[in-house]
Amino acid sequence: MTLRYGRFAVPDTKARYGRIDGFTVRLFDGPPWRGGKETDDTLPLAACDRVCPVAPTKIVCVGRNYGAHIEEIGGSEFPKEPILCLKPTSSLLEPGGTIRLPRESERVEHEIELGVVIGHRCRRVPVAHALDQVFGYTVVGDITARDLQKRDGQWARSKGFDSFCPVGPEIVAGINPNALSLHARVNGVERQAGNTRDMVFSVAEIVSFVSQTMTLEPGDLISTGTPDGVGILAEGDMLEMEIEHIGVLRVAVRKERV
Ligand code: MG
Repeated sequence: MTLRYGRFAVPDTKARYGRIDGFTVRLFDGPPWRGGKETDDTLPLAACDRVCPVAPTKIVCVGRNYGAHIEEIGGSEFPKEPILCLKPTSSLLEPGGTIRLPRESERVEHEIELGVVIGHRCRRVPVAHALDQVFGYTVVGDITARDLQKRDGQWARSKGFDSFCPVGPEIVAGINPNALSLHARVNGVERQAGNTRDMVFSVAEIVSFVSQTMTLEPGDLISTGTPDGVGILAEGDMLEMEIEHIGVLRVAVRKERV
């Protein structure tokens, strides 16, 4: 069964997680991946302001995980193991938020990616049991300052600016992650179109691989790499990222005004 979860701004209290049931949000008393339970409190979905649907302890990204994207960035070989990097949690951006283009970069690019939300604390989980550790799936924008990525040689700065990790709009549990179409559009024009079946490393292989290095906590977020078609974002753009069975994540793009 497919279940949809989000996090919502609630007047006079902090944001709360909820399960979306048709036009109604059924609010939880905590994060569902940390034992939060459904309460009797409900809100009409149309009246809810969405906030970022995850609050991970870490965001792990996989680089070069689709063959056509490896080609477009000038690579010629598939990686032998997943290439990992981290985004800071300060880069998280809510659905409907605004990516802020920093003055340090002349080339900020979109990367649509399938996001994996961990459901159980785990370490060194075998591939065969890796999907049992997953709570659900979401849409992630792994926004990247391509010029700084090339200049720095490592990726912490180029992927780490505030607002460079839009996530959402929902976390969807109970879907198969291995054949989902992904589309990214800028101002309504399609830029990226891919399918998770073309990943070099599958979701199960990635979760297992990451857990060989670090303990994964409930709510942690893994972003699984982008298909080809990455491209530049400019002031005033509207970026839409859509994954089959999950939904459309929309964010605006503005220059950072500081
Ligand atoms: Mg990426």
